[in-house]
Amino acid sequence: MNMNNIDLSIIIPVYNEEDIIENTVIEVECALKPLDYAYEIILVDDGSKDDTWKTIERIEKMKRGGIFKGILFSRNFGKEAALLAGLAYSKGRAVITMDSDLQHPPEKIPEFITEWENGYKIVEGVKKSRGNETLIHHVFAGVFYKILSRSVGKDMDNTSDFKLLDREIVDVILKMPEKQMFYRAISAWVGFKSTTVKFEVQKRTYGESKWTAVKLTQYAIRNITSFTSAPLQVITVLGGLFFLLAIFVGIFAMIKWVNGSAVEGFTTVILLQLIYGSITMFAMGLIGYYISKLSDEIRNRPRYIVEKEIGIDEKTEND
Ligand code: UDP
Ligand code: MG
Repeated sequence: MNMNNIDLSIIIPVYNEEDIIENTVIEVECALKPLDYAYEIILVDDGSKDDTWKTIERIEKMKRGGIFKGILFSRNFGKEAALLAGLAYSKGRAVITMDSDLQHPPEKIPEFITEWENGYKIVEGVKKSRGNETLIHHVFAGVFYKILSRSVGKDMDNTSDFKLLDREIVDVILKMPEKQMFYRAISAWVGFKSTTVKFEVQKRTYGESKWTAVKLTQYAIRNITSFTSAPLQVITVLGGLFFLLAIFVGIFAMIKWVNGSAVEGFTTVILLQLIYGSITMFAMGLIGYYISKLSDEIRNRPRYIVEKEIGIDEKTEND
């Protein structure tokens, strides 16, 4: 079944991290060496603009303990795509995904593996706290995870992309045809026997987070809509509420008219128009968003394009 006898695959997506990846690889290897497992480390360069790829090539030449693979995307396809590519290239009986900036502490890796040895197919890294973030970020993240937890049917609070997946789960995920996958939630959605490992989010030592407020908002909207159609139902509910309001205002206007004192309110009319207009436009935008996602899926473009790869042994690429 396993041609190269690799036990563990460590998958690390990297985007503009030239300063830190070598250090990360060293720390990951330090955590892995004491364990009696054959491992591979897969770095997926998500179309970095700096010298990340050169650094990856240099690391590969050093040939340290385990197998080292590097994959370069033709452009920036996003972290989710990089994680999926890593899964597709991995050979291990278990896979661990983690960030390249050491915010996911490598010294926790043995704990993930112990749980896997105990028979868990999925080991989720759960953040003890969310580290330093602004109040607004905190509130938005709270709402985001609430909605997500409801749509996945599992507590997603403080989940992360630091996790271990058994080969069985990796194969299930790789078979899913959807283009816009949300890695963090998909592992909860598939089910199977899972457990958690708690970790403290570390400070970023070099560089800065790749997230801007706009990117984060897009990320939240994209992932919520890819997991649930509930926002569409919200429109129906709003429609219902408006209908009730219409009956109420209608009766009120009728009574006034019968009494001979028709509603004088120009303001009322303007207000109703504005509220109605904005809700309608909001609803159309929302429907449009779902339609655009549908057409994205139908276009069926690849999730990523690999430009270069190193350390990939063609002979053993049997699948
Ligand atoms: N990353 C990526 N593609 C991107 C953005 C980020 O592969 O377009 C990687 C990045 O190199 C890091 C991980 O995803 O390994 C998390 O990114 P970051 O530290 O910027 O996010 P944060 O920790 O702030 O959530
Ligand atoms: Mg980070």
